[in-house]
Amino acid sequence: MSEADLITVDQAIAVIDAAPVAPRIVRMRLQEAQGLRLAKDILADRDYPPFDKSLMDGFAVRCADVKTTPVQLDVIGEIAAGQTADFSVGPKQTAAIMTGAPLPPGADGVIPVEETQRISPSSVRILQADDPSRFVTHRGADCAAGTAVLRRGMKLQSAQLATAASFGAADVDVFAKPQAAVLSTGDELVAIDAMPGASQIRNSNNIMLVSLLRKLGCDVTDLGTARDEVQAIRKAIERGLQFDALFVTGGMSMGEYDFVPKVLLELGVELKITKLRIKPGKPFVFGQKEKSFVFGLPGNPVSGFVCALRLCARLLARMSGGVAEQNWIFAKLESPLEKNGSREFYQPAIWRDQSVQPLKWKGSADIYTLAQANCLILRGENERAMSTGEMVKLLEIPS
Ligand code: AMP
Ligand code: MG
Repeated sequence: MSEADLITVDQAIAVIDAAPVAPRIVRMRLQEAQGLRLAKDILADRDYPPFDKSLMDGFAVRCADVKTTPVQLDVIGEIAAGQTADFSVGPKQTAAIMTGAPLPPGADGVIPVEETQRISPSSVRILQADDPSRFVTHRGADCAAGTAVLRRGMKLQSAQLATAASFGAADVDVFAKPQAAVLSTGDELVAIDAMPGASQIRNSNNIMLVSLLRKLGCDVTDLGTARDEVQAIRKAIERGLQFDALFVTGGMSMGEYDFVPKVLLELGVELKITKLRIKPGKPFVFGQKEKSFVFGLPGNPVSGFVCALRLCARLLARMSGGVAEQNWIFAKLESPLEKNGSREFYQPAIWRDQSVQPLKWKGSADIYTLAQANCLILRGENERAMSTGEMVKLLEIPS
């Protein structure tokens, strides 16, 4: 198979974005819902603020009384936050008021305490008044009852949780986290805590993908390592197909022991993508069996990481009730880049203050260099050499 037979990253994205997903909806306590996306709009259950509210500690006044200052007013009461006045403010009268308290009937402005002088418990001098109505937020001014304050698809982060709480959404309908599973294949792999033999290496892909997929909003199960042996791989993949999304690394290419695509086909998985013009990461498989998706990623760690971040993340976003999108950052090169080859290339780099330093890396097994990076510079197919100071496009590695 020549490079020309491989599909481009954009073509792969079109295929992944077209795959139908059916996110599950669950109802849960608001406190449990952090990071999940809303499955239904949340409507304001009352006006906000629910009453005409003072924005200052000071004195509630009738604006007409303070047109000329200084002026002395009778203090007829006090309203703290959480209280309601049982009196109304008449001409030449005022009441002490605290931030967040409801304005008493009759009053239509607030004088901040700094602009007053208390003369006695029953009297205050207003020293100056500059549009006292601006220290009042009127009932419903921030948001009227019935307004959709949070929309379906929004992610519940701190401010959204506070908004939901303000309007009494103690239980919310959200999209459930996709259930993902991670499986490595390879006879050379041993567990992290095992001492590798001369021809063995430690399995680093599983822990990498478990953490990345969690960051991308999944519940993740680590299925460990399957030997390069058809039976073992079939058994492990059958288990993995119980999940919403299975991520298999290694054994994806054309090598004699690369059984994964064959086993996937045998198990009835429809392979929608098998080869991709991306660097690092040529062997990339995307398939679907009923409601389950399978991503076959290259064994080399940097390849697996890049493919998961650039491609798999799009499907996971939709499976979590979001949209598939890529936020690009533009930055100036701090050093030149050579002409790119025929595959779209994601180069590890360090981005800071709108400039980016490409990292020298030794290929798709070079996880150490990726560990220094906070972004990947996008290089188009056959893109020309780039000089210091030129703008490049990059995608951030989520922290
Ligand atoms: P493969 O895709 O199976 O041909 O593997 C490509 C390279 O990635 C080989 O050097 C493997 O040893 C390495 N590799 C495969 N799986 C893992 C893994 N889980 N952790 C670390 N390296 C791996
Ligand atoms: Mg292998």
